[in-house]
Amino acid sequence: MIGTKCEKCGRHFFPPRSFCPDCRRAGKIAECKFSGSGTIVTFSIIHTAAEEYEMLTPYVLAIVKLDEGPQITTQIVCSPETVKVGMKVKSVFRKIATDGESGIIHYGTKFVPVE
Ligand SMILES: [Zn+2]
Repeated sequence: MIGTKCEKCGRHFFPPRSFCPDCRRAGKIAECKFSGSGTIVTFSIIHTAAEEYEMLTPYVLAIVKLDEGPQITTQIVCSPETVKVGMKVKSVFRKIATDGESGIIHYGTKFVPVE
């Protein structure tokens, strides 16, 4: 998982940003490898989804606070009954959706509970 970091104030950005809103022109942005782990801040269980995600329902959509600070919205790959606020999670690279017409498979980052 690659994000960016402002070398002036130490703020991390994910998705990567090329501009620090705190330091503005004075900020120096560098690429930064994230640990890929974080904590669930809040979540919802999705029972009805757009057609291309229908096969995944019910699934867990959560706001995860990454260890480096940024918060992202992401899917948690786990049984909806087991998810809890404060649960530690880590990123994995998973199939997100298959385009029925073309058969194109989309991949992206999702999160799984840390044992
Ligand atoms: Zn900064």
